[in-house]
Amino acid sequence: MAVHPFTIAVSGKGGTGKTTISSLLVRSFIALGDAPVLAVDADPNANLHEALGVTVRETLGSMREEAFSRNIPPGMNRHDYVRFRFRQALVESEGFDLVAMGRPEGSGCYCFANDLLSECMLQLERDYQFIVIDTEAGMEHISRGTIGKPDMLLIVSDPGARGLRTIARIREIATQLGLEKEKIHVVFNQYKTGAAPVDIGDELPIAVIPEDPAVEKADLVATPVSMIPADSPARAAVRVLAEKIQEISRDRK
Ligand code: ADP
Ligand code: MG
Repeated sequence: MAVHPFTIAVSGKGGTGKTTISSLLVRSFIALGDAPVLAVDADPNANLHEALGVTVRETLGSMREEAFSRNIPPGMNRHDYVRFRFRQALVESEGFDLVAMGRPEGSGCYCFANDLLSECMLQLERDYQFIVIDTEAGMEHISRGTIGKPDMLLIVSDPGARGLRTIARIREIATQLGLEKEKIHVVFNQYKTGAAPVDIGDELPIAVIPEDPAVEKADLVATPVSMIPADSPARAAVRVLAEKIQEISRDRK
């Protein structure tokens, strides 16, 4: 039976914890037996690979430009070349693969390359149970269709009132892109114990991730944040979130 992957896009303002939560989600799915996972770094300030502890040699962005500017090896058309390079850009690790989208292109038309990328992504998708996309608030790649429409959009926010405006804005973009309301969920991160719960209207956040000294420590000593101990509060909370997502993905089938 061919597996249709369940795609989760993680969005939110910079610094809210998208990368931290994306990397912990990848680890949780692996721990729950849902390997292989595809991790997609779609944030121009790419650092999902660091959070997962792998090295990226090149991004799709750099490859895309190259496919247009450099000489393509004889006997290969541009189409084959981009596919070939796509496989090279894919970082394979235990339980997951990672691909980084790189910077969004500058001026000029890259529609052809974008079409090829979407096609490569589609082919890739067959192997994965879950795809976790660490994306930026503008959701450039989603609006361009490069990574398709996600099955779930998580909006990561700090639990303060200030985050609410961003939540509303991202919700609006997502709705304009045709994403159904029930696929959009809020995740509060860096929740301080004892803080008052924030009212986000008639809906509850799908997860509340506590502020976790282990996450801060990983940051300070520059170790991959996804490797924090399994019983640390943030990791435990993301695991519960992963279980919820698992359940939702099963209902979809
Ligand atoms: P984003 O990808 O949204 O820019 P990051 O995941 O890089 O955000 O997190 C931003 C900063 O907040 C990092 O220094 C990270 O270590 C810290 N951080 C994120 N989540 C938590 C948490 N639950 N507890 C403590 N620190 C956190
Ligand atoms: Mg980030």
